[in-house]
Amino acid sequence: MSRDEQHLKPASTAITAGREASGSSLAPALWGSSVWQSTCMDDANQRATSMRPGQFYGRYANPTVRSFEEAIAELEGAEEAMAFASGMGALATTVLTFCSAGSHIVAPRQLYAGTLAFLQGHCARFGIETTLVDGTQPGAFTEAVQPGRTTLVLAETPSNPRLELCDLDEIGSISGPFTVVDSTFATPLGQQPLAHGVDLVLHSATKGIAGHNDATLGVVAGERELLDAIWLYGVLHGATASPFDALNALRGIRTLAIRTAHQAATAQRLAEWFEQHPAVAGVHYPGLASHPQHDLAKRQMRQFGTVLAFDLAGGQEAVRRMFDTMQLARCATSLGGPETLVCHPMTTTHVSLTAEEQAIAGVTPGLVRMSLGLEDPDDLVADLQRALR
Ligand SMILES: *Cc1c(COP(=O)(O)O)cnc(C)c1O
Repeated sequence: MSRDEQHLKPASTAITAGREASGSSLAPALWGSSVWQSTCMDDANQRATSMRPGQFYGRYANPTVRSFEEAIAELEGAEEAMAFASGMGALATTVLTFCSAGSHIVAPRQLYAGTLAFLQGHCARFGIETTLVDGTQPGAFTEAVQPGRTTLVLAETPSNPRLELCDLDEIGSISGPFTVVDSTFATPLGQQPLAHGVDLVLHSATKGIAGHNDATLGVVAGERELLDAIWLYGVLHGATASPFDALNALRGIRTLAIRTAHQAATAQRLAEWFEQHPAVAGVHYPGLASHPQHDLAKRQMRQFGTVLAFDLAGGQEAVRRMFDTMQLARCATSLGGPETLVCHPMTTTHVSLTAEEQAIAGVTPGLVRMSLGLEDPDDLVADLQRALR
């Protein structure tokens, strides 16, 4: 029985996947080369005209990056994957592969701020129009699709920063436009959008996948035909993944299951603790029974994720005092790493939005986003207890 036929569970796939380019080395080999030598003119021609030539030129493909792509494809149940220099590199390349002047995109209004700025600013500049819907409302995506005109449905679930969900079955059932889900907050261990019929799944691998705050990387996975189109454009867009960052992400994948399980358990405990705290006006975490989409979360997520958000009743001043007092939790904007991080979206990640756009995105003055790390949860509770006093 070959490994493919064993139907391994995701935690095992995270260990077995992406090893082909490294021979018998257990750790992935780092290919730093940007260019490879051909044996003769015909060989050079063959490399120059094939898809993803493994050893031709760094912008086309790189064996270390390829191993990372293979691992993600396997974890997502995809035929093919392509890595990029960042999550935004993956997103921008995917959008510009499929959209042209006159195209129409449907997206939820609850989105990573960089994605929102890209769609509303630059895509609009190229004549690509976006309709934003409330992605939590059943049927909202389907109703906004304009047959024959909508090229892309681009969702994000759970969403940044309020952990709102989109229904993967609904998005997967939309026919006509290509459907793309940014699954960064879930990681490949938390949910599998492709299994719901979604065409493409996208990650900022900078976050939980690499998981150690030492890589800037993005990835898209799906059917080979779509990834071929993305590769053909992506080679020219040039948001090429760094082999070193792909190496770090591949190492991160080996421990992804155990990290996300620990972090999600801590997130659940902290979310329940925040819910009982008098200084906290509201907690947003899909694992809470009080989350308005908890049933949907149970249907489509294996884990409820490593990020939560909460509203401090005292608003921005209360956030300032908390940030000044906490010692274990750190103030930084990323997520998915070993350190517990908090950020104030209104003054950092979402600062470029207008007040009205912030209100629509649910970015309130007292809102804090928290990415749970790998510290002992007892120490985190003690630190936050002190900081919220
Ligand atoms: C961080 C992030 C991105 C962008 O990824 P980069 O690697 O920073 O370019 C996109 N979507 C989500 C949900 C993110 O958290």
